[in-house]
Amino acid sequence: MALAGTGVFAEILDGEVYRYYADGEWRASASGKSVAIVNPTTRKTQYRVQACTQEEVNKVMDAAKVAQKAWARTPLWKRAELLHKAAAILKEHKAPIAECLVKEIAKPAKDAVSEVVRSGDLVSYTAEEGVRILGEGKLLVSDSFPGNERNKYCLSSKIPLGVVLAIPPFNYPVNLAVSKIGPALIAGNSLVLKPPTQGAVAALHMVHCFHLAGFPKGLISCVTGKGSEIGDFLTMHPGVNCISFTGGDTGIAISKKAGMVPLQMELGGKDACIALEDADLDLVAANIVKGGFSYSGQRCTAVKVVLIMESIADAVVQKVNAKLVKLKVGPPEDDSDITPVVTESSANFIEGLVMDAKEKGATFCQEYRREGNLIWPLLLDHVRPDMRIAWEEPFGPVLPVIRINSVEEGIHHCNASNFGLQGCVFTRDINKAILISDAMETGTVQINSAPARGPDHFPFQGLKDSGIGSQGITNSINMMTKVKSTVINLPSPSYTMG
Ligand code: NAP
Repeated sequence: MALAGTGVFAEILDGEVYRYYADGEWRASASGKSVAIVNPTTRKTQYRVQACTQEEVNKVMDAAKVAQKAWARTPLWKRAELLHKAAAILKEHKAPIAECLVKEIAKPAKDAVSEVVRSGDLVSYTAEEGVRILGEGKLLVSDSFPGNERNKYCLSSKIPLGVVLAIPPFNYPVNLAVSKIGPALIAGNSLVLKPPTQGAVAALHMVHCFHLAGFPKGLISCVTGKGSEIGDFLTMHPGVNCISFTGGDTGIAISKKAGMVPLQMELGGKDACIALEDADLDLVAANIVKGGFSYSGQRCTAVKVVLIMESIADAVVQKVNAKLVKLKVGPPEDDSDITPVVTESSANFIEGLVMDAKEKGATFCQEYRREGNLIWPLLLDHVRPDMRIAWEEPFGPVLPVIRINSVEEGIHHCNASNFGLQGCVFTRDINKAILISDAMETGTVQINSAPARGPDHFPFQGLKDSGIGSQGITNSINMMTKVKSTVINLPSPSYTMG
């Protein structure tokens, strides 16, 4: 089995440092500098990537602009064919890419493979959806608007935006990159990817799969470096015509600095799980564990606060605790359920939230335990609104439970958050579920299941500080296009006869 950086991937490695991708070639940066990627488990440097310069970013943008013009003239079916090819190559090389995800972001081995396979499926679906929705336009006739005869025919169709800048976060560096790359390319755009530092090497391998598929030179590029160093230069670059970003508060700062370009922002969340008295308690407990602790809570749509009716709280907390002791805690290579969180600073941040809750009197259902970046799963009961963890996103395996005495109290807490990504409600009463779903100010509400982004063709969006616009394959393709109209003006009205 090929290892990362070997076999077909050998050309993306330059000694110890992974190359960046520009103009259809793998290159070393003229900066002579590299950025270290620290393995969250060993806390030692695992990989290094190029620290690209501003001059290199300028060149990538110029090449992207030129390549896009030719790509927009490439038939839609040919664009789709190349995407299908890339998807197949990506799936074929799932093992070395998954290996990077294990080493860079401590993703459990099985989940790492699933991420790559799901990404291939996403690219294929995007190609098919693009053929369907971009293959159609509209014909409008003027006599439907008062004062007009039928002498104007308006033909409207979707056109590409130009150069799309894609910036995904560390937790799904492959999947959240292809969810931007696929829609951008099928719609006739070129694409510049700035991968997260943790996850950059997995992303470079994924980009190589697109290279192997044979996309034109300069159409896709991947520049690496710390977001804090080259991020502003990229997002404020005059060559960028659209920004698709997924991540934390950085997205709010980007939206203030970006120029007059369409923005797709998928940011943080504090997804609430509201459980009513009539809920199936086993289902609630299973979803709290799956929703709150999968990938150690490092998911945008993780359950991040449990709002539970007092009358069922003891029973549910007991069931959750019984499941938490069974979770396997350890390194990602062993397919543990709980693996080290991505960086030491993340672990410190999580610890800060836990200690604040402790000082303010939360009940610890388990003993707080941490070794390096590895934090054992922890349920915090009797959390109150004056505790930071009631509102902030830990992005780790610690979950607050707030006991409520009415549905209104739960909805109030959910809506008082500055986030509004997803939420979920557990009840056997569908009428109540719909009323609560409508009242929750979040982009999506799941009834009787934990929040989830997928399936990837479902619309996915955050309200308030959780985002701008909507994702999901169809919405992303539409977002990365503009409408162009051509109006045929007839010298005299003409009415189509039946
Ligand atoms: P992050 O710190 O905001 O980083 C996201 C991306 O932005 C990374 O590629 C990062 O690069 C880059 N970046 C940093 N500073 C930048 C700047 N000034 N300009 C441009 N780019 C910059 O987020 P994260 O820690 O990777 O991910 C966790 C967050 O993402 C959580 O808040 C989570 O809820 C959110 N998230 C949201 C969704 C969603 O769809 N709503 C999905 C997944 C995650 P570097 O790595 O080089 O710093």
